[in-house]
Amino acid sequence: MAIKTPGEVLLTISIDTECDHDPNWARSKPLRFDSINIGMPERLQPLFNEVGAIPTYLLTVEVLEDDESVESLKKLQGQYEYGTHLHAAFVEPQKKFYDYAGIDSPDFQNSYAPEIELAKLRNLTALFQERLGYAPTSFRAGRYGAGNHTLPALRELGYKVDTSVTPHIRWFEPNGCADFRRAPEQPYFPAPGVLNRAGKHQPEADEVLEVPVTVRNRLFRRYPRWFRPWYSSVDEMKDIFHYHLRRYGHQETLVINMMFHSMEVIEAASPYPQTSDDVRMYLDDTYEILDWARAEGVKFKALSDVRDYFGKQG
Ligand SMILES: [Zn+2]
Repeated sequence: MAIKTPGEVLLTISIDTECDHDPNWARSKPLRFDSINIGMPERLQPLFNEVGAIPTYLLTVEVLEDDESVESLKKLQGQYEYGTHLHAAFVEPQKKFYDYAGIDSPDFQNSYAPEIELAKLRNLTALFQERLGYAPTSFRAGRYGAGNHTLPALRELGYKVDTSVTPHIRWFEPNGCADFRRAPEQPYFPAPGVLNRAGKHQPEADEVLEVPVTVRNRLFRRYPRWFRPWYSSVDEMKDIFHYHLRRYGHQETLVINMMFHSMEVIEAASPYPQTSDDVRMYLDDTYEILDWARAEGVKFKALSDVRDYFGKQG
């Protein structure tokens, strides 16, 4: 059954791209970057190239600081986008850790004062620019810890898209909370000063589009189902896809946003795949759902390019 909507269905893949972690989500010790040097060039990008998908790798500070990783990033073959991903405790000002090995990421960026959050984003963006030679235009907050000041800050720094919102979920950390329980499930321009609610205004040319992570709520469960390998089977991902089509198919543009981490395709570098068989299954499922979506008629888009389909632009 091919897709029947008045408009188009876009599929974007947003990947938090970080150093390898351990199965408890602490950073590897010593710090390793197998997901950048092996995972991206040998596992992920060939899969995306084969199916015609265009991933967006959202880069953390430790990846941008690592020379070998930056070399790998520059050599990656295929179609993709690089953006940024902030783990706030690892970036100045008020940086808390200088050696990231073995460290968990404790902070939500929304728990810092707005000017500190902006300065952290500015520093991360400048590092990206210095290392890769151009400005990033897509972003996700570490631990999804974005807040009401995040999109205005991103706008000031020239970003086009944020993808920190996970609808139906409220995240807690000792120092903060990110409440997306009532956030829209499809892309939106937030109401002024309120990240988790759509505005009714005409978006301005340089306004940042929020592209939420694609999920489907479950009535009696705390967490929704995610359009995400390992979290959901291929059939469950198809079900989430169809739910969005039923619910939002009348819209001019419908967006499916698959998220995961680069480390998930390295054995035991995240809480998810632990063995080579696990990784193979993970990649098989990812390929299968993307190939299926392609046959259904989706258009694969880099995250920033989704912005072109919403509101006017300068
Ligand atoms: Zn992260």
